[in-house]
Parts: sequence; C-alpha cells; structure tokens
Amino acid sequence: MDKMESRNKRKNKLVNFLNISLIILLIVANIYFIKLNINIDKKRNLNINELNSQKNNFNTSETKTKELEKELTHLKNIDEEINEIKNEYFENLKAFEDKVSNKEVDYKIAYLTFDDGPYYLTHKYLEVLEKYNVRATFFTIGLDKESCYDNRSKSCKELYAKTAKYGHTMANHTYSHQIFYGLYSSTNSFINNVKKQEKLIKDRTGITTNIVRFPGGIASAGSLRNSIVKELKNLGYGWVDWTASNGDGGFVASKQDAMNNLKKTINEDIEVILFHDYSNITLSILPDVIEYLQNKNYVLLPLFYESKMINK
Ligand SMILES: [Zn+2]
Repeated sequence: MDKMESRNKRKNKLVNFLNISLIILLIVANIYFIKLNINIDKKRNLNINELNSQKNNFNTSETKTKELEKELTHLKNIDEEINEIKNEYFENLKAFEDKVSNKEVDYKIAYLTFDDGPYYLTHKYLEVLEKYNVRATFFTIGLDKESCYDNRSKSCKELYAKTAKYGHTMANHTYSHQIFYGLYSSTNSFINNVKKQEKLIKDRTGITTNIVRFPGGIASAGSLRNSIVKELKNLGYGWVDWTASNGDGGFVASKQDAMNNLKKTINEDIEVILFHDYSNITLSILPDVIEYLQNKNYVLLPLFYESKMINK
C-alpha cells in the first residue's frame, strides 16, 4: 500500500511538474507570441507608414510631372500662341489701314522706319520710342560689334534682340548694304545678301522677317529690278521704299532743316517715313517728329507684311 501511495505521489508530482512546465511553456510561448505580434505590428505600421510616405512622394511627383508636362505643352504651343496674337494684331491693323484709306476715320497712319542699324545710337532711339509708346520698323543690316561704324559701341550685336523685344518690326535691309560694291551685281548677289541677313535676324531674335527694303531704294536695282522683285516674291518677301523723309541719309545742316524737310514730304493719309538710326539730328528731333505727327492725327504703327504699303 505504501508502495502504491508512494508511486501515486511520485506520479502526481510528475504530473504536476509536467503541468507546471506546460503552463510555463505556454506562458513563455504566449509572451513570445505577443512580442512577435507586437514586432509584426510595428513592422507592419512602419511598412504602412513607409508605403504611405512613398505614395505621397509618388503623388507629389505625379502632380509635379503633370504640371511639368502641362508647362512643356504650353511652351511648345507658345510660338503658335504668339503667332495667333500677332496675326490678330495685324488683322486689326489691316482693318484700321483700310478704314484710313477709305477715309472712314479721322485718323491717318505714319510708319516710322529706321534704316542701316543697329548703331550705337539705336539704344537711344528705342528709349525715345518707348517713352512715347510708339512701335516702328527697323530695316537692319549685318553689323557686328566689330563693324558697328565706330569703336564706341560694344553692343550692336545685342541690339537686334533688344529692338525686337521692344515690339518693333524687324525688317531686312540686306547683309552687306554695299550698293556700289557688288550688292546689285546680280540677282543672286542681292538675294544671297537678303538670305544672309534673314538668318542673322533669325539667329539673334528668333524672328523670321518677310519685309525688305532695297539699299538706296528700288531704283538702285536698275535693270535687275524685275528679276529681284520676282525672286523676292518667290521667297515670300514683300518690299517697300518710302513716301517721306527728312533727308538724314545725306547732309542736313540743322535740326530746323531736318524738321522742315520732313514737313514738306508729309501729305498723304498713309506715310512710310525714312529715317536712319545712325543720325544724331534725327535722334534729337524724334520727340518733335512724333508730337508733330500725332498732332496731325497720325497714328504711328509698325509695318507688317499685309499692309497695303508693302509691295508683294
Ligand atoms: Zn540703307
């Protein structure tokens, strides 16, 4: 009996021990499991946070990409938009010019044109025109700073872009302007000079010009006149001489003379006035010229291809 009891006691002890061990094992396992879960949760949260942050980054990048794409499309279309605005502007000018021609309005039109630049004085011409909010036309030639008439100028090259930026019409007066040295030796020589100047203006301003003025006027082309005009037309160019001037291409003794010369030639409803932006005298009377014309009801405009004054 004792033996039985003793065996049972040992058996119970063993069972108890096993139970306790199991419980401890369960507790340890549970703690471990809980800890594992906590870690998994932490990791999951971290991952979720990271994913959210990446998603946000992605969303921001996506928005930025879309904005940039929009901007890029806008930039690609900007040339088109500018052309549309320009076309609309010139259509309005054309309509206005027609009204002036038909005397439907009290206004007249004067196209101020400046030849042979840019010159170091062109800066000052631009300032005066800007002060009066007047847009004009510049018939430029192929001057570089190295050959900008005198050494005082270091900036003739940049004057093309500056003139265009101010909204004036950039026009072509040939690259060389060498009336007596080969320009009019053949149609090819003239056309090559026009193309060379067209490229120079395009390179320096981004603008394609389609208005030409013959150096010395169309009469200087002599027997080549018809051939050159035909070729210009083929290339999409129009050309224009002038209807009025103050004589600043030659000798003018005084400001008074320059003003009187001009007044004598102003008598039409639409005038194309020839000046040279290398002339000190013209620069000094430019405010008076503008005020004189405006007082006579002239609206001062930049030339444009569709104008009736452009031969094409
Ligand atoms: Zn000239």
